[in-house]
Amino acid sequence: MIPLPQRGGCICGAFRFRLDEDPVTIYACHCTDCQTETGSACLLAVVVRSDAVTWEGVAPELHPASTPDGRVKDGYRCPSCRGPTGGQSRGEGLEMIEGGTFDDTSWIEPAGHIWVRSAQPWIEIPENALRFEEHPSDADWLEMTRHWKSRST
Ligand SMILES: [Zn+2]
Ligand SMILES: [Zn+2]
Repeated sequence: MIPLPQRGGCICGAFRFRLDEDPVTIYACHCTDCQTETGSACLLAVVVRSDAVTWEGVAPELHPASTPDGRVKDGYRCPSCRGPTGGQSRGEGLEMIEGGTFDDTSWIEPAGHIWVRSAQPWIEIPENALRFEEHPSDADWLEMTRHWKSRST
């Protein structure tokens, strides 16, 4: 278990959130869409139950974005600095918070890496993390959830 609550927010400080429960899982996505969207090598995604997170401060703006597997997600952006604050996977009762937006990032380590096929060549996937060449199946997601739980207890 990580110390709770965990807080975080955008870089200008207008948008804040509070997490009151251990995340469902943490993964890194190396797909090219995530590289473009984050302007970085990968997306660091902390998956949480929607009921476990409270959005504080200004209301985020919603920006719909398509995922590589064809789903549509609402991405949250701070209306002031336009910084990423997370996203919502529609209809699953889950939210995704971008790992780097937490005040304390010391506990954030991906249980799995997805779309490793398109990862930057200098990225080394740790041996204790799950590895998926493309988009994980439902069973793979479940395994990633179990893997995070087993490492965080
Ligand atoms: Zn991705
Ligand atoms: Zn902001």
